[in-house]
Amino acid sequence: MLELGMSSDSLPENDNRPSRTEAEQAVRTLLRWAGDDPTREGLHDTPSRVVRAYEEFFEGYETDPRSLLERTFSEVEGYDEIVLLRDIRFESHCEHHLAPIIGRAHVAYLPRSRVVGISKLARVVDAFARRLQIQERLTAQIANTINDVLEPHGVAVIIESSHECMTTRGVHRPGVSMVTSSMLGVFRTNSDTRRELMAMLNRPSACEY
Ligand SMILES: [Zn+2]
Repeated sequence: MLELGMSSDSLPENDNRPSRTEAEQAVRTLLRWAGDDPTREGLHDTPSRVVRAYEEFFEGYETDPRSLLERTFSEVEGYDEIVLLRDIRFESHCEHHLAPIIGRAHVAYLPRSRVVGISKLARVVDAFARRLQIQERLTAQIANTINDVLEPHGVAVIIESSHECMTTRGVHRPGVSMVTSSMLGVFRTNSDTRRELMAMLNRPSACEY
């Protein structure tokens, strides 16, 4: 049974983190495992490049997602309708194959009294996406964090993505997308609120303006 959104919210213990040299050595081992020669010219700098890429792919471990939501605004003239940020592109990696998961997240909440800067919602998505993930947990962690910190009337997170471990290996099924959602508070209990959210999601995008 998965403990969605529980254990890996907190930053992992880093006491046993290997050195950069050890990480580069591990890449050389994988290059040899693939059947190539890590000493040939074209692969000479590959271990250091891969380690730098890993720093970027997994920089979410360095971020506390809750702290991103601490600064809020309460002067909202009584605004008490859904706030939706949609089509937040993200890149993550599946924890089973280290293969990319590329997709879009839609994040909505119904504020109680405080709103947060919209870029912060996108940064929460990145803070969890830039870790080793499964999509179900990614979805739940984003929703639970917003719910815990902002204490809104409700939170909805919908994620659509393509998993390269499914498109480029294994069953080789390109064009398949996976959709997950987490509905909390009024988005779970009130079908009118959920319908309103779906209507907002189905509107044409305003991105070109
Ligand atoms: Zn996978």
